[in-house]
Amino acid sequence: MTKKVCVNCGRPSYSAAMESAWICPHCGTDITKTKTGFTMPAECFWCGERMVRLKSGQSVCPSCGWRYEEVRR
Ligand SMILES: [Zn+2]
Ligand SMILES: [Zn+2]
Repeated sequence: MTKKVCVNCGRPSYSAAMESAWICPHCGTDITKTKTGFTMPAECFWCGERMVRLKSGQSVCPSCGWRYEEVRR
């Protein structure tokens, strides 16, 4: 099983096949090219601004307001 975290909605998805296309089951974003094990991004996915890590475990982009939250189960 391989885990990927969606760059759009921040929710994890799992797949057994690495080569096939990988569409986020939560929001439909194509995350085929997203690196495996992608966790907390250092830079904003949308504008490249440095992400600010909050005490709550979220990261937020100070430029565009994009929030990333690592979902744990
Ligand atoms: Zn998604
Ligand atoms: Zn941003």
